[in-house]
Parts: sequence; C-alpha cells; structure tokens
Amino acid sequence: MRIIFIGPPGAGKGTQAGKIVDSYKLAHLSTGDMLRAATAAKTEIGLLAEKFMLNGQFVPDDVIIGIISERLNSSDCKSGFLLDGFPRTLPQAAALDELLQKNKTPLNIVLELKVPDDELLRRLAERGRADDKPDVIKNRLKVYNEQTAPLLQYYEKQSLLKSIDGQGNINEIFNRIKETLDKFI
Ligand code: ADP
Repeated sequence: MRIIFIGPPGAGKGTQAGKIVDSYKLAHLSTGDMLRAATAAKTEIGLLAEKFMLNGQFVPDDVIIGIISERLNSSDCKSGFLLDGFPRTLPQAAALDELLQKNKTPLNIVLELKVPDDELLRRLAERGRADDKPDVIKNRLKVYNEQTAPLLQYYEKQSLLKSIDGQGNINEIFNRIKETLDKFI
C-alpha cells in the first residue's frame, strides 16, 4: 500500500503514522524526521534545512524532492510506504506524481487528519519542540493553510482523498484510520 498522510502541524500525524507503519508493515518516510536527523548530523542539507525549520518556513522544494526521490528507491519501499510530511506544496505533489508514474507505483490513498485550529494551538503549545514557539507555530499554521491545504483539492480531484477526524484519543483515531485503510487491502 502506498499512502500519503496529510495534516496540519499538531494534528497527531507522527503518532498515528508510527501506528500505521507498524500495523501495515510499511516504510515510514517522514521528511521532518529526515531533516531533523540531517540537522543533528550537521550535514550540508541539515544545516541548510535548520534555518528554514526554526522559522516555521518550508525547506526549498528541490532539496526535499531530492531527498524523497532517493529514499523512494530503497528496497524497503518496494512493499509499500507511508509518506508523512511530503508532499507539502503543489510542485512537490507534481514531482511525486512524476516519480511514481515512472516507477509504475501509483498511490492508493491520501489520508487527511483533520483537527480544528484552536485544538492544534493547544497541542503545539504543550509539545515544546524547537520549532514550537508561539510565533513559529502561527507561521507554520499559516504556511500549512496557504501551501499544503490546496493539495487536498488536488488529491480530491484524483479521487484519492479520505478525511479522518483527528479528535479523540489515540486509539479511537487509529481505529478510524484502520477502518478506512482496510478497505484498500
Ligand atoms: P509538523 O508536521 O509538526 O509541521 P514536521 O516534522 O513534518 O512537522 O516538519 C518540520 C519542519 O520540517 C517543517 O516546518 C518544515 O520546515 C520542514 N519540512 C518537513 N517536510 C517538508 C517538506 N515536504 N517541504 C518543505 N519543508 C519541509
């Protein structure tokens, strides 16, 4: 199964992504995790990415597309993957379409995790990651609404989009996701 997982910062995507990849034995491709690992290792890409991340801005499309296209060639992606945090812009989505078409590995589903803004702000304030400071959070939500939300329409048009209510406890939400994904197996 090949899945894209979309949701605003603070929606609980990381937690649910972990449960999905365990349950369905998928490779977990989290661009946020990849960039944080690159930053910690002080690689060239990591140091470049850090500047954007700390301001709540997106890392440039060409950088992120390069990372993902390389990662998608790994053998562990052959039996399926969950893209978590990618694509986040329309050019990223177009580049992904092209890659997957070339590999003859179309997407099965795009899952959107939906949480209202006031709940997101409350959750992010509690989390305290380096990019969870109030001004940065506001900017990340703004960037999400401007750049990532249009992807929902893009995938709706391809009849791939399924929206999941991201409110409730972790297991309730996971059960909703499972009900949706099990229809694709
Ligand atoms: P969250 O989902 O909480 O916003 P992530 O861990 O997915 O956090 O991403 C953290 C940061 O990494 C983003 O704010 C952005 O700066 C950068 N990033 C991650 N994925 C992408 C992407 N696909 N395109 C551009 N920047 C990205």
